This record gives sequence, C-alpha cells and structure tokens, in this order.
Amino acid sequence: MMARIFSGIQPSGELHIGNYLGAVKNWVQLQHQFETFICIVNYHAITAPYAPVDLERRTHEMAVGLLAAGIDPSKATLFVQSQVPEHTELAWIFNTLTPFGELERQVAFKEKSAKQEQVMAGIFNYPVLQAADILLYLADLVPVGEDQVQHLELSRVIARNWNSRFSPNAPYFPEPQPRLTPTRRIVGLDGQAKMSKSLGNTIGLLDEPDAIWEKLRPAPTDPARQRKTDKGDPDKCPIIFQLHKAFSTDSTVREVETNCREAKWGCIDCKKSLLAGMVAELTPIRERATELNADPKKITDALELGSSKARKVAKTTIREVKEKMGLPLAVGGA
Ligand code: SF4
Repeated sequence: MMARIFSGIQPSGELHIGNYLGAVKNWVQLQHQFETFICIVNYHAITAPYAPVDLERRTHEMAVGLLAAGIDPSKATLFVQSQVPEHTELAWIFNTLTPFGELERQVAFKEKSAKQEQVMAGIFNYPVLQAADILLYLADLVPVGEDQVQHLELSRVIARNWNSRFSPNAPYFPEPQPRLTPTRRIVGLDGQAKMSKSLGNTIGLLDEPDAIWEKLRPAPTDPARQRKTDKGDPDKCPIIFQLHKAFSTDSTVREVETNCREAKWGCIDCKKSLLAGMVAELTPIRERATELNADPKKITDALELGSSKARKVAKTTIREVKEKMGLPLAVGGA
C-alpha cells in the first residue's frame, strides 16, 4: 500500500513563488509517489481577523493556484478543510488529551500571541487542529520545512497519548514523520526575510513577465558588484542566485557562477537570464490558471471530488475513534 502524505496550506489567495518552491512544487512530485491529501486550511485562517468575502476569494484563488501549478485531482485529494467537519470533531477529542504546557511551549503561539492585544483560544489550540488534520487521515508523512518540525512533534505526542489511552495493544494512529522539503527557504525580494505576502516582498506565481521583471530589476545583488567590471560572489547574492538555482538549467547556473566571479556580465544581464528561466517555467502555470478562471466549474468540481474523497477517509477514522472511546455514533454513520 502507498504511504500517505498530508499537507495543509493557508487560503492566502494567489500563491507566490516562495510557496511554490518551498512546498507546492514538491507536492506536485509527491502526488505520483504517495497517496496525497492537500487541504486548504480555512479553519486555521479564521483564527486571525478576516472579512468573509475576502476569505472566500482567497480560498478560491488558492485552489486555482494549486491546480494550475500541477496538483491533479485524479491523483491527489485536494479539498477545503471546512468541507470536512470531522477535522474539528477530532480536534475537540484531541483537546481533551493535550497538556496545556505543550501548547504554551509552541513557538508559533508565542509569536502570534505577542502580536495581538487579545489572544483567542483558537490561536492557542491551533496546533491541536493541525494534529487533527494530519491524524484524521492516518498520515505517515508530512512534508515540512525545517522550521515546522516542532508542530509535527506535537502531533506525534497527541497520537501517542491517544493510542496509550484508547488503543494500547495496537496503536491506532501512526506517529507521522517529517519528510523534509528539498527546496530551502526562499528569501524575499528585500533580501532580508523569508518571502511572505504580509511583508510585500514576493513575486506572484501568476505574475506576467513584465511584472516579474519590475520586481527583479531593482532586487539587491552582491554589494561588491558596483560596476560591471567588479568581480562578484554568487553566494553573496541571496535572491538572484537562489532563484537561478530554482528556475534555470544547470548549465545556466554554471554560466552565472563563472560570469559573476569573472565579471563577464553585469547584474542586469544576469537578471535577464533569470527572467527567461522563470518565464519558461511559470508561463504554462499562468495559462492553466487563465483557463481555470474561465471555467469556474472545473474548480468547484475538483474541490467537490476532493472533499468527498477526504470525507470518506475522515468518517471512517472518526467512527473508529468514537467506538474506541465509548462515544455513541451520529445517526447514520460517524
Ligand atoms: Fe548576483 Fe548575478 Fe549579479 Fe552575481 S552577476 S551578483 S549572481 S545578479
């Protein structure tokens, strides 16, 4: 049997290339090797203030971006979290088994609560819902960046706690393992922080070539290269060289190294070469997004198919969990 993978993504609207290189491109490959569940986690999104119309739009745009990037609904199960109510049901069950201290120690809670005057319980319990997201599908693996490994540790603790209490002889929930995402953290166009929409330092996955160029052109490079004749070091050029490694061919990357170190071209030439690689990879994605937007039924159909596949698994898990916990089932099922 194929191992099962679960990934969640916030409905943040249009994807940017940091999301794409850091997660989505990897999922597109994984869907051929694993039974893959990809969830647009809108219940997580509502832990921050939001406008309902805006959330709906962002959820739709995220679905378009994922499908355009290559998530194939006939291979991966792509769905929206709120369409599978078992997520919150399992989260409540897990809340009863999660030590308060474990949640207080979560780095994400400390960071998020520091920014808010009034901290809602949803922020505190966010990692419990994350554990429920993963364990509901009895996932074996979760693709994560190194900075997200702590969340997964809590899911393992919760799985262990539940197993030892309700299924001590044959653990019911697998303890999900991290599958580290190969692409490193993508630095934003400011060269300072991770690429993030809230910092305004992104390139959109669906940006037109002109818009990409407007963002690449002023991006900082190795400060040693003041003039075209100054020799540089690609490793001191975090944005452009990193993006070359992600979008350009191996021979172009070697050319960049030589031309930079030996001052054979200027940074603008280097950026134009990067633009060519980006346009080659991103144009088909942008075109697929245009096609999807012209036929919104394709998007609704894909999400309906995904949520019905996800619900089938989720209902079985909840039924088995409730049976083991002495909780009567709902009429007609889980
Ligand atoms: Fe960066 Fe390219 Fe300029 Fe070198 S030549 S500093 S890699 S933009």
